Amino acid sequence: MKGVVKYKRGDGFTELRDVEVRKPNANEVLIEVHSAGICGSDLHIHHDHINIPMKPPVVIGHEFSGTIIECGSEIKSVKVGDRVTVEPGFWTCGQCNYCRSGFNNLCDQRQILGYWHNGAFAKYCTVPEHGLHKLPPNVDFMSGALTEPLACCVHGVIEQTKISAGDFVAITGPGTIGLLSLQLAKAEGGIVAVCGTSADNNRLKRAQELGATLTIDVEKDDAAELIKEHTDGYGADVFLECSGAAPAAQLGLEVVRKRGKYTQMGLFGNPIKIDFERIAFKELQVTGFIAQKRTAWERALKLMAHGMVSTKALITHEMPISEWEQAFNLFENREGLKLILHPE
Ligand SMILES: [Zn+2]
Ligand SMILES: [Zn+2]
Repeated sequence: MKGVVKYKRGDGFTELRDVEVRKPNANEVLIEVHSAGICGSDLHIHHDHINIPMKPPVVIGHEFSGTIIECGSEIKSVKVGDRVTVEPGFWTCGQCNYCRSGFNNLCDQRQILGYWHNGAFAKYCTVPEHGLHKLPPNVDFMSGALTEPLACCVHGVIEQTKISAGDFVAITGPGTIGLLSLQLAKAEGGIVAVCGTSADNNRLKRAQELGATLTIDVEKDDAAELIKEHTDGYGADVFLECSGAAPAAQLGLEVVRKRGKYTQMGLFGNPIKIDFERIAFKELQVTGFIAQKRTAWERALKLMAHGMVSTKALITHEMPISEWEQAFNLFENREGLKLILHPE
């Protein structure tokens, strides 16, 4: 089969290659991939800009859905024909305190699909049973392929931050993480403002369609002033920094109210300079998150099944995997929001 392979460390060194289809072991299944989402981190793998262990040559792709076409001899929870999506971070030690308490996302030994093990930008993918989740009947393959980024946001917004109905929630960065966080904040009863730059115009429009009360172009308007106006001068109860840009983090420390909550959702890639002391002066609750845990996957699938969140609303492009390079370019130039690759 053809797969998009990162074949060597360093910037670039990614190509469409012939890859062997691996037969499932006793506790694994073989999945025919239907849809696979391109994530910002796939570009970081391509450019070798990411602080997560990778082992080239490896087929990239960790957000996907498909159908089980072969089961290992010991598989009990699923069968051939089941429609599924897969947790990409399921190779963990199983022994450390994090693994044993359900925080396998924090295991030091974690190896991730599409980084360490062959991933989903290919026609077939072989994975262990315990990372599988069946798609609810009314969740289609395209929506289901985006369970992974939604589960990340469920972990960050619902499990880590906790929003109360009536909270004013300010979000920076209207990309996938920002727009999924917007929908989750709405589902939790938040009143949401989404901030972006002028380059984010289309994304801010989409934020409006998805229920943002206020959208702010920070290059045109004074975001801090506008948020104050909407909160009787106090500031946002909750701030979700989804852009991974230092000025956005600084804006967050300014617009969040005293005793409010600040959650770092995006990754900067480098140490940044911000006014950290504000955390003390404002008595802020600051948190962050990385990846997702099983509880977040279950909640993400329920939210989609009940129509409370739409991942499909973020999809702008569908392309065959042979056009992976054009797709990566579109994504990098911010022409697409969420791009889906289909195997041929
Ligand atoms: Zn991802
Ligand atoms: Zn562990």
